[in-house]
Amino acid sequence: MIMKGKKGVILGIANKKSIAYGIAQACREQGAEVAITFLNERFEKKLAPVAEDLGCADKFYPCDVSKPEEIKALKESLEKDMGQIDFIVHSIAFAPKEGLTGRFYEISKDAFDIAMDISVYSLIEIVRELKPILSNNSSVLTLSYYGGVKYIPNYNLMGVAKAALEMTTRYLAEDLGRDGIRVNAISAGPIKTLAAAGIGEFGFMLKWNAAHAPLKKNVTIQDVGNSGMYLLSDLSASVTGEVHYVDAGFNIMGMPSVSFDEDGRQSIAWNGEK
Ligand code: NAP
Repeated sequence: MIMKGKKGVILGIANKKSIAYGIAQACREQGAEVAITFLNERFEKKLAPVAEDLGCADKFYPCDVSKPEEIKALKESLEKDMGQIDFIVHSIAFAPKEGLTGRFYEISKDAFDIAMDISVYSLIEIVRELKPILSNNSSVLTLSYYGGVKYIPNYNLMGVAKAALEMTTRYLAEDLGRDGIRVNAISAGPIKTLAAAGIGEFGFMLKWNAAHAPLKKNVTIQDVGNSGMYLLSDLSASVTGEVHYVDAGFNIMGMPSVSFDEDGRQSIAWNGEK
């Protein structure tokens, strides 16, 4: 039981396909006590059975990160019901539709501000508000994507937000290291979730990743969940400020793989087709 005795809060479960759900499952399986949050009343109803499933129906709180008062209220509820906590999972992102398709240079300031506020600033705000109840051996985890490092079609505004999020991870890690708080990110390969459905041509991203990753497959929320659980546990006690790729190796590729036919002739697996 790697997480026995650990308590934490997981933000960003929309349903059982969410990456945060995979992380919650892995933490529960390894003995952690978990609290989860919901965005609004509509999601409270939808998520109630999920909270039941995860054994945390009594630790199920509202938190829309665009509302500072809800983050403050979350801290009060966690303190009352759990006392000190040992980990936070920030698995939240949002960009208006106009930021996830079309010409990048046309993005409005409003869309830019919303994406940065929900997807990046919220990490800083959550950590700051919850810091008084974080133990001095605690771990914070956020979720990124390769589109924050390299161009990915249609990822547009979210790519800029993920670049800022990865740098925020490093600055937080340095600042909070002295308080015994580690801060890491997982850069996950593409997974079909609610958030992913908003990205133009997402199906093509999935095909491309599986065709060109060294492991020739896409990742699952269980894969990300297990790696996330490691980063939240004491197994990663000396790891901080990292962006850890859980993407079947896709990020190491500079060009599509070479494949060989029966006669040993080489060809490039363009578009995944030999
Ligand atoms: P998801 O299931 O849709 O989760 C996204 C979560 O963000 C949802 O629970 C959503 O809540 C929440 N959220 C949005 N606005 C919020 C707000 N104002 N306050 C509180 N919560 C808010 O999708 P996911 O793919 O698991 O996404 C989780 C994280 O992984 C995101 O940071 C995403 O960028 C990242 N990621 C995803 C992939 C992928 O391919 N799926 C790959 C790499 C990284 P509601 O649904 O209730 O609005």
